[in-house]
Amino acid sequence: MENAYSAAVVACWPKPQVPLTADDNKNYHQQLQKLLRERDAVLIAHYYTAPEIQALAEQTQGFIGDSLAMAQFGAQHSAKTLVIAGVRFMGETAKILSPEKTILMPTLDATCSLDINCPINEFNEFCDAHPDRTVVVYANTSAAVKARADWVVTSSIGLQIVEHLHEQGQKILWAPDKYLGHYLQQQTGADMLLWDSACIVHEEFKLRYLHDLKKQYPDAAVLVHPESPPDVVALANVVGSTSQLLKAASSLPNNTFIVATEEGIFYKMRQATLDKRLILAPTAGKGATCRSCGYCPWMKMNSLKNMFESLQSGHNEIVIHETIREKALCSVNRMLSFAETHDL
Ligand code: 13P
Ligand code: SF4
Repeated sequence: MENAYSAAVVACWPKPQVPLTADDNKNYHQQLQKLLRERDAVLIAHYYTAPEIQALAEQTQGFIGDSLAMAQFGAQHSAKTLVIAGVRFMGETAKILSPEKTILMPTLDATCSLDINCPINEFNEFCDAHPDRTVVVYANTSAAVKARADWVVTSSIGLQIVEHLHEQGQKILWAPDKYLGHYLQQQTGADMLLWDSACIVHEEFKLRYLHDLKKQYPDAAVLVHPESPPDVVALANVVGSTSQLLKAASSLPNNTFIVATEEGIFYKMRQATLDKRLILAPTAGKGATCRSCGYCPWMKMNSLKNMFESLQSGHNEIVIHETIREKALCSVNRMLSFAETHDL
């Protein structure tokens, strides 16, 4: 069955990206190395960005990480400018935490289906209808949605925070990822009311084909991001955020890993596992019913070319209204303080 995308997601779907040639990549890489230094800028990239972007981050003392680690790194770094290669909510989180810094993104059109499908007006109505619940939102949301929330969580810390709130007897209103929400609810037993939205990449992983692949590689460990559907999560050996899956791949003894998350993770996972076999978990297949097929179209809008243009011109700066930023800072800081006190 094809996953139905909302009209809003279809409207934001990027045009197919024309890949840069190897020579162009080499050229922009060299120019960016120089420009990052000259502009007192540091590159912070998500694991799902293209290999050439992650390689530039590695070679310029930048950073590659999951969304929590990107926020932590950016907030403590001394550079005047943070270049965020990822999707828009990651740039916004950086601005929420570092208003004094210039936050640039290679493109401001790189968004996320979870963010698109959680517009602030509808979200406000949802919260207003359930005033008795603590509002916990995933980091993959707009600054306005974060401003309405009591807590922001990422997939690497969501479990501990929801557990903590549940132990305090709090009832939770969760948005926007229903699959991650379902996973947190199931693991903690918390009373959670879930917003109905999903990641267009992870929801396409299919149990039936995963079963077939498991039969073919019976010794493989299955690593699954919790944005995936519950039946796929149920088959996992390890469920976790991108950095947690990476850690699992480098520490488990298996020689084969079936990985249910976006394919960009393989750049770092290959470095961590050397000659082991890494297989992207199956979707229904390009010609069949899936459209993104383990590939986030928005993450892949980032290129060395648009990064160079942004840094050179100062275009694509993240700006957030100060009232919203201050409110969003409270819910983001709650997460970061929790991470600090729990050594996460
Ligand atoms: P991580 O926080 O695990 O990096 O997840 C971000 C994301 O967008 C996953 O699709
Ligand atoms: Fe959003 Fe999914 Fe892309 Fe992550 S992979 S940025 S959740 S659309």
